[in-house]
Amino acid sequence: MAEKLLEIRDLHVTASGREILKGLNLTVNKGEVHVLLGPNGAGKSTLVNTIMGHPQYKVTSGQVIFEGEDITDTKTDERARRGLFLSFQSPEEIPGVSVENFLRTSYGAITQKPVKIFAFKKELEATMAELKMDESYAERGLNVGFSGGEKKKNEILQMLMLHPKLAILDETDSGLDVDAVKIVSQGVEKYKNAENGLLIITHNTKILEFVDVSSVHVLVDGQIVRSGDRALIDEINTSGFTGLKAAV
Ligand code: ADP
Ligand code: MG
Repeated sequence: MAEKLLEIRDLHVTASGREILKGLNLTVNKGEVHVLLGPNGAGKSTLVNTIMGHPQYKVTSGQVIFEGEDITDTKTDERARRGLFLSFQSPEEIPGVSVENFLRTSYGAITQKPVKIFAFKKELEATMAELKMDESYAERGLNVGFSGGEKKKNEILQMLMLHPKLAILDETDSGLDVDAVKIVSQGVEKYKNAENGLLIITHNTKILEFVDVSSVHVLVDGQIVRSGDRALIDEINTSGFTGLKAAV
């Protein structure tokens, strides 16, 4: 039987007193890639921020289960240590912290072991080369002065270097040119293995070109209204989200 990585059970979430997620269920097994589609404002970012434990989002009922354990009330750093990773829709600029330092510190915090500096640097150089990032970026302030595309590539670099068990990409491909989308897509392919999982939110299904998609879900008004296989992406691309409604 497939081994469950993430299980969301009847999740209800509010922000600023308003209910955004209205009874959401989702299971991601090891080795699977799930794609989440949905119109703007449906609650996609709310879902993934809640999975990471963002304090702005309040779970009023339901559960987030990771590797069989209820993590609904755990802090974000604890979730990261357990192997959850979120690539942000709008990555923050952090002056004074270099890309390399940030990655090394994050890796040490997640594994809670001393980082082997030389091996880490070698892996970083190789991964940056694969993502066609100039090695000088390792010394630059995190995201400071990075173009939109560079910020997104840097998110993929983090995913590859931190080796999470479940990586969540929130529109990592939006605003990228065709070459950058291809690199991000190849990064996703490189990350994927039989033990980990991926949840991808996207409007640009080109990112999925090289990826073996297990399931596709459509999120509308705080609920998953359709799930299916890859064919659902083509259906949405043709017909849009009109006519897909949440049950009240
Ligand atoms: P999506 O990512 O699907 O475009 P979001 O999850 O960002 O949608 O937003 C869903 C709805 O929740 C939107 O109407 C948005 O304005 C609202 N929302 C999101 N975050 C907050 C917040 N922190 N406070 C109040 N409303 C929020
Ligand atoms: Mg969003």
